[in-house]
Amino acid sequence: MRYVSTRGQAPALQFEDVLLAGLAADGGLYLPERWPALPPVAWRALVGKRFAAVMRAVLTPFAIGFPSERLDRLVADSFAGFAHRHVAPLRQLGPSLWLMELFHGPTLAFKDVALQLLGRLLADVLTRRGAHATVVGATSGDTGSAAIEALRGRDGIEVFILYPHGRVSDVQRRQMTTVPDANVHAIAIDGTFDDCQALVKALFADAAFRAHHQLSAVNSINWARIAAQVSYYAAAGLALGAPDRPLRFVVPTGNFGNVYAGYVASRLGLPIERLLIATNVNDILARFLERGDYRAGQVSASTSPSMDIQVASNFERLLFELLGRDGAAVRRAMQGFQQSGALAVPPPALQEARHLFAAARTDEAGTLAAIAACWRDCGILLDPHTAVGYAALRRLPTDGTPTVLLATADPAKFPDAVERATGIRPPLPPRLADLGQRPERLHRLANDLGQVQAFIARQRANRE
Ligand SMILES: *Cc1c(COP(=O)(O)O)cnc(C)c1O
Repeated sequence: MRYVSTRGQAPALQFEDVLLAGLAADGGLYLPERWPALPPVAWRALVGKRFAAVMRAVLTPFAIGFPSERLDRLVADSFAGFAHRHVAPLRQLGPSLWLMELFHGPTLAFKDVALQLLGRLLADVLTRRGAHATVVGATSGDTGSAAIEALRGRDGIEVFILYPHGRVSDVQRRQMTTVPDANVHAIAIDGTFDDCQALVKALFADAAFRAHHQLSAVNSINWARIAAQVSYYAAAGLALGAPDRPLRFVVPTGNFGNVYAGYVASRLGLPIERLLIATNVNDILARFLERGDYRAGQVSASTSPSMDIQVASNFERLLFELLGRDGAAVRRAMQGFQQSGALAVPPPALQEARHLFAAARTDEAGTLAAIAACWRDCGILLDPHTAVGYAALRRLPTDGTPTVLLATADPAKFPDAVERATGIRPPLPPRLADLGQRPERLHRLANDLGQVQAFIARQRANRE
């Protein structure tokens, strides 16, 4: 199986090349040429299996060409740094409501589930090819630390992470800036997350720079990360009756990466009745589903900073499906979006999106109220991102369909908001308890492509 670009002008690639490339050369995102599906008997055979076995099974149809025994070992290794032996445990919150805790990895957010594997896959391919890579990424807080944790100290990989200065939490910043490995470079940009993401896209768009430095990406534009995230939708589904009973997911959403993996799970044959997109006040996706109008607004800083995003990269992958997999149409739509900050889809495409997706927006007061409500009603502390999902539950009918709220971060990662809502300040787990005392190392740069390019070139030269 090959992978094609959403914009139709980049060469089709094999899995390993997509893994290394991240973004396609035409500015689009890669996805499979055809959707594979697992038949019900294959799903049934996974019931009761360990998390790693489920991940292995859902990756197999996508990781064509990756040596099979190596994949087995790398998947199994990926969970060594997780603090929970089931990786992503389910906790029951109500008669048909479960919380899936995706935050037991090294950086306390769901991104570890996929990135711990992605780092290993990348290092494995580079070693086999005798190649090197420069990983660049933009982060609204959690991707950066998860990428750094996944790539620190790996031979042949330099990692540069751009984050918006002053717009990530203390814990998030320290998780990026206190890692001592020399291949790690944390860069504070004077701008928003969308500025950081635009800089990263511009780095990739500069073909000479991209080729010279062997740029690679590990944010959710990287297909392998999406494929790895299918694992927890599958694991939750299998625990709650799939493939014979449909279920719903409520997904705190920013860049549309997490919830898009749910779409992929559904294409793979998991019976998902609905994917509820939960957004904070940065609600471009909710507005799209209401009105069919995808229009970027101003980014507002919220207590759920990893969702403070107005330009949701992975939306382009859904758009590709909604426009009938027509790369030229996606290219035109994205060019229009670049110029005017808006794009519209035809009514039948919007109808199609609404078959699976719904959305709900929650403001700041609603987020804090949801943390308080879950604490009062269930005795469980939620981080503010997960709380946006909890608040969104009111949009779902109470008809007994099993519903899974994805818990995307440990509440200890956002202690200020949790304390404001409940009076309780959740402590960091012991392995991170001294984070506040570790020395920080970061570089502050203007929101300027030339400066970022010069910095990357200089650091790479220093390291050779
Ligand atoms: C990244 C992140 C999100 C949003 O995930 P997307 O893939 O960007 O939609 C939600 N919650 C937390 C805690 C995150 O780190």
